[in-house]
Amino acid sequence: MNFLKTTACLRIFLALLCSVRGYCGEPQNGAHVRVGLFYNKEQYDQLMHGRDALTNYTSAIEENGGKRVALSPRLTLDQTAVALGSIDRLLIPGGADIDPKFYGERRHKKLEKPVDPRFDGYEIAGVRQAKARGIPILGICRGFQLLNVEAGGTLFQDLPTELGTNVTHRIYDKDGGPVRCTHKITISDGSILYGLFMTNRLEVNSYHHQGINSLGQGFKVIARTDDGLPEAIENSRSHVLGVQFHPEKDRRAIPLFNNVFSYFIGQTNAAKGDRLSAN
Ligand code: MN
Repeated sequence: MNFLKTTACLRIFLALLCSVRGYCGEPQNGAHVRVGLFYNKEQYDQLMHGRDALTNYTSAIEENGGKRVALSPRLTLDQTAVALGSIDRLLIPGGADIDPKFYGERRHKKLEKPVDPRFDGYEIAGVRQAKARGIPILGICRGFQLLNVEAGGTLFQDLPTELGTNVTHRIYDKDGGPVRCTHKITISDGSILYGLFMTNRLEVNSYHHQGINSLGQGFKVIARTDDGLPEAIENSRSHVLGVQFHPEKDRRAIPLFNNVFSYFIGQTNAAKGDRLSAN
């Protein structure tokens, strides 16, 4: 009974907070679209000291009419619940390798450290909540892979040893970090990406060490490299799009890539059926 009372009180509190701050549901006319963006523990600490490790994502959000809401396992559960209840979009950025325990595998020896299962679990829980609310979700690189894992799919933990491809998906610098490379992808007709780029063949950047192996439930592969590896997935029913490449890195030099963000932030919200004002 106490639990029920507490839950009811919490709901009333959140409803009041929402009405006061205009947080929940769709933004009012003229309001920014609130975009949740995951920071890991270190990145969030840096952000609190004025250093943004995700500036490319933040400017992509802001320049397309959004307002960033930083999400991090540094936040308390209550703070996270309020933040997740307040956002209109969820953007999952690139980052480190996901702990393979989330798709039932042991760690490959080439898995890149540091692996942070607490952060992986935090993001996966955030995706579940965003899906339950029906808000649009965009996953980039690690975010694309995380969407697949959340939906029950698996990853190649180390592409060079597990896929055996002649497409270069990553060039390593002398410290083992990624250096920019590009490759072509083939985009399916009628997909979200085709609508954004209006072409079946496109050159995209590639920085990734892992990739999608088996596909998660509800997803459709909408772009692949010539080795067959998925480079974009969508679940148009639940407004989820994932891309293996990094549009936020190239959108200034190649404005076509900004279409990913203008679509993501400005798209029709099917839950309400009205177009958001992105200003
Ligand atoms: Mn690639």
